Amino acid sequence: MPDCLFCKIVRKEIPARLVHEDEEVVAFEDLNPQAPVHVLVVPRRHVASLNELEPGDDALVGKLLRVAAKVARERGVADPGWRAVVNVNRDGGQLVFHVHLHCLGGRPMFWPPG
Ligand code: 5GP
Ligand code: ZN
Repeated sequence: MPDCLFCKIVRKEIPARLVHEDEEVVAFEDLNPQAPVHVLVVPRRHVASLNELEPGDDALVGKLLRVAAKVARERGVADPGWRAVVNVNRDGGQLVFHVHLHCLGGRPMFWPPG
């Protein structure tokens, strides 16, 4: 998707602090972190939101979660705890329409979320 911000990060047309990349998934530091650990995990392939997932994407979704857990472990927040968040569309607070998993940790998280 030519004009998509996260596609541009995946293609390295826009700089980001990458923390993981493989053939399917890229993870990078959030530009405006909401916690001491705030990493975004995205598929290389453009998928606008969770609403656009298809049955063939099941393995990709699992990979996003597993990479987020790997990042949490590497950053030392796996044991104390962390949060995986996916915002979807307007009411979900989604601002970038390339599906991404927020990996948040390093401080207590609260419930219910805002
Ligand atoms: P959303 O609200 O769509 O779930 O989250 C979008 C996230 O992308 C926000 O946490 C925001 O800080 C982050 N973000 C927006 N623009 C950029 C950017 O250019 N680079 C990086 N690394 N993160 C960004
Ligand atoms: Zn995209």
